[in-house]
Amino acid sequence: MTDTMKCPACSSEHAYQDRDLWVCPECGHEWSGAVEAAAETAPDAGVRDANGNALADGDSVIVIKDLKIKGSSSVVKGGTKVRNIRLQDASDGHNIACKIDGIGAMNLKSEFVRKA
Ligand SMILES: [Zn+2]
Repeated sequence: MTDTMKCPACSSEHAYQDRDLWVCPECGHEWSGAVEAAAETAPDAGVRDANGNALADGDSVIVIKDLKIKGSSSVVKGGTKVRNIRLQDASDGHNIACKIDGIGAMNLKSEFVRKA
């Protein structure tokens, strides 16, 4: 915890911590320091590869490990190059849509690829 927390309501620098809460003596605002900290560590938007490089639509990537394809006996081998990826929102983490030669359309997780 930092002792330089500013009041989010009035920007006073004299806020103090009272158990789980921060309290501002100037305007009386109370807030949870834990929530503030969580907001600061939220991941930034954007899809990144295994090395933390930003990916974009149309990029080529290389699969870094063998990936079993759900519902099939096929395996995407580590080292496979995938061209023309398309980024997508995916609640299950498969945030890359692509087409792989010999396998077809599929979804990948960005953590298992690196930018080619
Ligand atoms: Zn205040």
